[in-house]
Amino acid sequence: MNLLPEPLIFNVSSPGAQGCSLPESDVPPSPLPQDLTRKHLGLPEVDELTVVRHFTRLSQKNFSIDTNFYPLGSCTMKYNPKANEVAASHSGWKSLHPLIGDRYSQGALELVFRLQESLAEIGGFSAVSLQPAAGAHGELAGVLIIRDYLESIGQGQRKTMLIPDSAHGTNPASCTMAGFATRTVPSGNDGNIDIKALEAMLNDEVAGIMVTNPNTLGLFERNIAKIAKMIHDAGGLVYGDGANMNALTGVFKPGKSGIDVMHFNLHKTFSTPHGGGGPGSGMVAVVSKLADFLPGPVAVKQGKKFALAMPPASIGRMKAFYGNFGVLVRAYAYIRMLGRDGLRRVAENSVLNANYLRAKLERHYPLKYKKACMHEFVAMGNIAPGIRTLDIAKRLIDYGFHPPTIYFPLIVPEALMIEPTETESKAVLDAFVEAMLSIAQEAKTKPELLNAAPTTTPVGRLDEVAAARCPVLCYRP
Ligand SMILES: *Cc1c(COP(=O)(O)O)cnc(C)c1O
Repeated sequence: MNLLPEPLIFNVSSPGAQGCSLPESDVPPSPLPQDLTRKHLGLPEVDELTVVRHFTRLSQKNFSIDTNFYPLGSCTMKYNPKANEVAASHSGWKSLHPLIGDRYSQGALELVFRLQESLAEIGGFSAVSLQPAAGAHGELAGVLIIRDYLESIGQGQRKTMLIPDSAHGTNPASCTMAGFATRTVPSGNDGNIDIKALEAMLNDEVAGIMVTNPNTLGLFERNIAKIAKMIHDAGGLVYGDGANMNALTGVFKPGKSGIDVMHFNLHKTFSTPHGGGGPGSGMVAVVSKLADFLPGPVAVKQGKKFALAMPPASIGRMKAFYGNFGVLVRAYAYIRMLGRDGLRRVAENSVLNANYLRAKLERHYPLKYKKACMHEFVAMGNIAPGIRTLDIAKRLIDYGFHPPTIYFPLIVPEALMIEPTETESKAVLDAFVEAMLSIAQEAKTKPELLNAAPTTTPVGRLDEVAAARCPVLCYRP
């Protein structure tokens, strides 16, 4: 507990206070020209310990998976074993120059090659490129592959991509960047793609469909093989958004269900911490007829040696060098550590944990689609008069939990999208349930508590639009 007040470092400035003492100068002073010197620096004058305390205090205000439960739906905020950090920070990897050439980087190339093979196997695909740096970046790579493939077979007039109304916003954005027009496919009453509506949208301008499976409602798209056949028969290709792969590893291979190209988020499923805007990987996997179009370079094996090669009809580079290499090391270490059975248990436990929470909460937080879920589920937060999902989310902060994703997907009013992940214990899940039930009680008896939350943070409710659009990033006295 903090007994002392938390002063802003600027307010404790005292003239002459210093963090270090320099030795007397033994060279003659050489003053800068007057017009180049600053009259007033505006920096606080403080001692070293004050600076250390200031930054340490700031760092403790961060919320992270290493501090508490973080059920942010669709983001797979799971614990990533520290052993993989150790592997990624090995000096042999860390100090390797990206231009060193094949001869001195055989180990790194072998790792890239083996990871390509492992991910192709996990997804049921033929070939993989590890270039893209994020999920959205992988989507862009994937739809560019579709564009170039269609052009190569004389179907360049296909310029429409179909996207379900439950999709992540990055899907239509990636299509637009690749020059496609998008059309929205409605969901049926069961939360899955409305097959009849889809059928009516098919024509010779359709380039393909982007399917997220399980979708952002946490529901498995049972008709995926049928949908893929409809699209293929109509001359299009099927893009799979693999951000939710955590529900499927070792259980289901999307590449065997009719999906032609898919990205995986290594920073969600395969052990790279994320959420702070750090490096990620949205590697793309394809069926054999699309392999020549992959972004490159990719790692290849020639006899006993490994090398880099550009696929013959490559869409080109998505990124400088070979992708975010540290992320690749973590993913490889993670896959080898777990093996096939371990990866299967990841998926099974992520689904079990989500269903445990769903079953405990659904009486208090209603579901729009009342059925078993995959790795996440979407509840609704308008549970009492004058209470919105935003109030529930903010009150959870007072209970020490990171709020779930809110107001997404757009097709569920007052959405609360909860993804516990497989790495949380029953004790943590129970503590979260207890907090949620207690908030549901407060919503009925003391709604003003929720409307005023959070009350335990340095700042309460922000104008989030203004905070994003006009951020104030420096101290203004
Ligand atoms: C996270 C996510 C994306 C985008 O991934 P980024 O790495 O954030 O660009 C796309 N689709 C779905 C369903 C996601 O959850």
